Amino acid sequence: MSEPYQVLARKYRPHTFAEMVGQSHTTKTLINALDADNLHHGFLFTGTRGVGKTTLARIFAKSINCESGVSSTPCGTCPTCIEIDNGQSIDLIELDAASHTGVDNMRDILENAQYMPTKNRYKIYLIDEVHMLSKSSFNALLKTLEEPPEHIKFLLATTDPQKVPVTVLSRCLQFTLQKLTHEEILGQLKFIMDTEGFKYEELALGQIADFGNGSMRDALSLLDQSISYGNGSVMVADIKAMLGLVAHDDIITLAQHLINQDAQACIDFVKELSHKGENLTQALKDLSALFHQISIAQIIDNSGVSDDIKALSAQISKQDLQLFYHIAIHGNKELPLAPSEQIGLEMTLLRMLTFHSESHPQKKKHLS
Ligand SMILES: [Zn+2]
Repeated sequence: MSEPYQVLARKYRPHTFAEMVGQSHTTKTLINALDADNLHHGFLFTGTRGVGKTTLARIFAKSINCESGVSSTPCGTCPTCIEIDNGQSIDLIELDAASHTGVDNMRDILENAQYMPTKNRYKIYLIDEVHMLSKSSFNALLKTLEEPPEHIKFLLATTDPQKVPVTVLSRCLQFTLQKLTHEEILGQLKFIMDTEGFKYEELALGQIADFGNGSMRDALSLLDQSISYGNGSVMVADIKAMLGLVAHDDIITLAQHLINQDAQACIDFVKELSHKGENLTQALKDLSALFHQISIAQIIDNSGVSDDIKALSAQISKQDLQLFYHIAIHGNKELPLAPSEQIGLEMTLLRMLTFHSESHPQKKKHLS
């Protein structure tokens, strides 16, 4: 019998500092502190969703409560390490402030901090989305942070450090976790697909990594979806269908019509995309992204750029690229106000042609 499917973010959650993807500055500092057994009592991990805040906090918790001693390489096999990995450690108290705001027992829990740990070295409070604690809970937290008992560690995580009171901030070591890079996410996606023995197209994984926009959790959840959509394989065509993406070739064609200043071809092509049921909002976004790619190729470096982008970049001025990009971004903002997506996209393209810096009246093509 096959094992029940476990979501990838959970199955591949790192259990050691070495397994962490990205965040090398933070892990290095934590490793040094652990190996020197020089530990502060309050830590605050900040960063956007899905970049590893609570994962790092749990690894840190294992490091200080592992039964084989405090170190940056917890054994992973003692009862405490296993309990922490399974979310069952009695001395690791995990709270999600987002779901407990203003609840009185949050304050009670924090006021219990003075009691000794039940079986481990430290009693650890891991409070996620700490900025959402109620005022009374913050006061209870502050009271403990001001005169922390030896046996207490606070691991706080937040996506919004601006909302954490300065009095709390100033008593914690703060670590700012970065969004993960495209390469970091892609590397992990490939590793997972290879380990699982699933079939994939690399370009499809690249699109998933892009979609993650710096968040490993978001990328992995999309990977889960695509694996089940593609029945065990992850292909470009499936991702395109799932996300309502417009084919790269179509965007290149549209850009070519713009560069040719061929209004009729632009309008016909939008009609065609619309008939095919393509996501026109996405098409406009992709077009802006293409202008960005062409600009980079023109101004900075065109090595590693695909031939179709090189060809476009030879036909358009830097000024026009800036103008087109600007109009595309604004067109996107106005799209919800347009009578229809199609009209919004058409007007945006026509605006590009109208304000084209190299426009000459005699060259303009008229709509029939
Ligand atoms: Zn251990």
